[in-house]
Amino acid sequence: MILRRRTFLTSLAVAPAALACSPTPQVGAQSGAGGGAGEWPGPSSPVSYVTHPPPRVGSRLELDDDEWRRRLTREQYRILRQEGTERPYSSPLNAEHRAGAFHCAGCGAPLYHSRDKFDSGTGWPSFTRPIERGRVHEKPDRSLGMVRVEVECARCDGHLGHVFEDGPRPTGRRHCINGVSLELVPS
Ligand SMILES: [Zn+2]
Repeated sequence: MILRRRTFLTSLAVAPAALACSPTPQVGAQSGAGGGAGEWPGPSSPVSYVTHPPPRVGSRLELDDDEWRRRLTREQYRILRQEGTERPYSSPLNAEHRAGAFHCAGCGAPLYHSRDKFDSGTGWPSFTRPIERGRVHEKPDRSLGMVRVEVECARCDGHLGHVFEDGPRPTGRRHCINGVSLELVPS
């Protein structure tokens, strides 16, 4: 497994930044840590919604907007519920190499596994595939004058990132994911 990851690293370290996740037009995205305006109804730091056992594939979590605001930090809400994008290289999960499952920060469903994580050189956590079939879903995204494939949590429809076809083996795909949307549960 380690050898394979090294192969990914060398083959992908040169991935051009232009292929990265969407550039964010928003400024001042760092307000999510809780400081600043006091009117945000949600927590100031992320709350874990991971459960044991995990929710079944196909189960749904549907909340109204007020409930999402109370459940998420401002930054999580901006990305998960408003399809925002974190600044590249801002997520500590970029340098995270422990084994484990990456769960949805909004609903706790397992989405990705460390065995499928690779360093894409883009500044966002990247995976070759989801942890299992049915955990994420894809849909066309025509925002920002581009045609891309958005990837969402299949349980809560939380925005995760985008999928590109320039990934390493075995899938050739690159799930370019906002670290804010994920919680690692080390195994
Ligand atoms: Zn979710």
